[in-house]
Amino acid sequence: MTTLAPPAAAPDAVPKSVSLEPEVRALGHRIAAEQARAPRGAGRTFEDRGMELLSRDPQLRAALFRLVDVAPACASPRELAEHLAALLGEVDRQRPPVSTARRVSSRPVAGRAVGRAAGIAVHKMAQRFIVGESPADAVPALARLWRAGAAASVDLLGEATVTAAEADHYTARCDEALRTLAVAARAWPERPMLEADGAGGIPRVNLSVKVSAMTPHVRADAPELGIADAAARLRGLLRTAKEAGAHLHIDMESMDSRELINELVMTLLSEPEFRDGPSAGIVLQAYLRDSDEQLTRLLDWVASGGRSLPFTIRLVKGAYWEHETVDAQQHGWTPPVWEHKVESDRSFERLTRRLLDARPLVRPAIASHNVRSLAHAIAYSRHLGAPDCDLELQVLRGLGDDLQHALSALGLRVRTYCPAGDLVAGMSYLVRRLLENTSNDSFLLSRARGADLDRLLVAP
Ligand SMILES: Cc1cc2nc3c(=O)[nH]c(=O)nc-3n(C[C@H](O)[C@H](O)[C@H](O)COP(=O)(O)OP(=O)(O)OC[C@H]3O[C@@H](n4cnc5c(N)ncnc54)[C@H](O)[C@@H]3O)c2cc1C
Repeated sequence: MTTLAPPAAAPDAVPKSVSLEPEVRALGHRIAAEQARAPRGAGRTFEDRGMELLSRDPQLRAALFRLVDVAPACASPRELAEHLAALLGEVDRQRPPVSTARRVSSRPVAGRAVGRAAGIAVHKMAQRFIVGESPADAVPALARLWRAGAAASVDLLGEATVTAAEADHYTARCDEALRTLAVAARAWPERPMLEADGAGGIPRVNLSVKVSAMTPHVRADAPELGIADAAARLRGLLRTAKEAGAHLHIDMESMDSRELINELVMTLLSEPEFRDGPSAGIVLQAYLRDSDEQLTRLLDWVASGGRSLPFTIRLVKGAYWEHETVDAQQHGWTPPVWEHKVESDRSFERLTRRLLDARPLVRPAIASHNVRSLAHAIAYSRHLGAPDCDLELQVLRGLGDDLQHALSALGLRVRTYCPAGDLVAGMSYLVRRLLENTSNDSFLLSRARGADLDRLLVAP
């Protein structure tokens, strides 16, 4: 068994404080210029305008989120129109688009047409974010992405797991996805940028999984219950991934499951059976006040683990900010997350540097739609003298399409996170993404509102 060489510099908690502002600004402008050249259908522009309108009106936002929630359960366009009329009736400021839609949707004949149109709009919007209903359905879109210069990580959407049978079902779907995608990916053309970095080969197939879907026993106060229950299922997936030569990525969720996920992943990957594979990884959330300590713990484990493959760490800001804040307030606790966006942004950049310093023990994947956060990662990686293939950037399908286009056009390695699932599962995913995108602090929303790029590229 071979073990990885230690990083050139010790990955300590204080990253290099070199200022790279001119490089970051220049890169930010180059990325934005390429984004502007990305192909955009007329429907996209309409959807973006819709998101902008939603972001300005919290009541309209609440009404439409609820519509998206009930849409999959509606038996007919008429039923959807009735929901639309009722929900829009709750919006106080009845400006023309809202008041007209409400009036029309409550009339019998026109109401059916509005209901049908609303149903189609909801479907179309969900399709923008979802790559297919099943892994087999997703294959053509994944092959197109690959040919266009972007790798993917597939995520099988599912509802909350409350029974062992549901957990078994989710695990079986993941197992089948690994096998289906491994066969399909053999036919894809060579893409050297997507298939290797300084630490070795990178699997073509990459599946992101959720531990909360693999056990009904997620309890913050008793992580050992969930670990024991999920271990057998995750172990089976690790075996399949190893056999199929695929990468298995374990997503991070809310604080309730963080300890469970970290312990489970470190325990299983330390088992002799998994020391030489499969390629695997975890997620680090920069919005957590203790994310530096988390990274130290992961790096210590990687350094002492003796695995022959680099451990991938996907750095994100974190998708559960509101949940963590409200949950802490209800319990009278200090929230585990930073309270100001700028603090999460600063943490993200500090952790980016620590991760890049820790190569090749870890394979960093910097996941964000914030051009400043990405440009900073690229600039720092180049400052260290690393080739661009040693840095992976990640975006979400639907939200990061322009960015994906721009990053591949600039010769960088990009991976698009692609959810697959039916419309019902897709709806809750869509609602979460819309909520994220219409929050006032979002980089994407600031861009859509026309904020000055130079202002958005300033160091946090
Ligand atoms: C490929 C990919 C995979 C992902 N996987 C995961 C995952 O496994 N787990 C997960 O949790 N998330 C995941 N995410 C979502 C991610 O955590 C972010 O929610 C999302 O990317 C938005 O952050 P940004 O950097 O793109 O945008 P930005 O607009 O720069 O940042 C928005 C983020 O800032 C933070 N924030 C907002 N307001 C405040 C505030 N007042 N105080 C402090 N912080 C604030 C929140 O984290 C918010 O999501 C993933 C994202 C991508 C692109």
